[in-house]
Amino acid sequence: MRLAAFRKRLGVKYLSEEMAEIFLLKICGMIEDEGYDACLQKSIPNLRIQGDKTTNPEVMDTYELVHAVAVEEGKPVPDVILDFGKAARACGIGETGLSGSILNRKYGPFLRYCFIITDAPLDCDPALTGNLCDGCMACVCACPGHAIGENGPDTWQCSVYYKGAHRSNPFMTEDFLEGDPEREQILNGEKRFDAESARALYPKLNFLPNTQWGYSACLCGRKCDVACYRHLVGEL
Ligand code: SF4
Ligand code: SF4
Repeated sequence: MRLAAFRKRLGVKYLSEEMAEIFLLKICGMIEDEGYDACLQKSIPNLRIQGDKTTNPEVMDTYELVHAVAVEEGKPVPDVILDFGKAARACGIGETGLSGSILNRKYGPFLRYCFIITDAPLDCDPALTGNLCDGCMACVCACPGHAIGENGPDTWQCSVYYKGAHRSNPFMTEDFLEGDPEREQILNGEKRFDAESARALYPKLNFLPNTQWGYSACLCGRKCDVACYRHLVGEL
């Protein structure tokens, strides 16, 4: 189990960093060799643009680019990060579901993606039409931390339970939060967390050694995505 959780952490890291970067650099190089522009776009897991108060549970913490300033009034601030959800829909890959994951007809929520913005004359897939997420609420019911509501995910709540605060965490210890009057509430997924209280708990969510890459191990089993996959695609 420990190895599986460690692999999950490495899996996210290698898919989102190494494989995506190698792919982007190779394909962008091919496009530029043909005389076209190619602007690579990969996820930046630990950064949030100015005003985005959410977080990314997959990393140890996130930082808002509060000091990004436009060079001139009326111009965009230099912290443009592609909206991957809208881009996925425009490219026909999928759509953002209630859980916050991008859903695909074939792979459900189990996708990793990156984008290239180019002026190369490519054959295009049609944009996605219709809805993949049917609001079944399977993801809502499956989350041990009650981190998904009818309006979507609460990323701070998710970040605490993704990192293992629920009693279903296979690495839970007897002395976790010993003496804390809120221990039972937290272990049952009943306490509500915001940015401040989530960050206060992070140092205690040390069930596995940290890596130097800044990714957290997923200790909730990503039950939201598993339930969604079963609903949309079938048994794993
Ligand atoms: S199951 Fe895990 S990843 Fe999904 S919303 Fe809940 S805590 Fe987050
Ligand atoms: S489990 Fe159901 S409600 Fe949740 S994202 Fe998937 S399709 Fe949408």
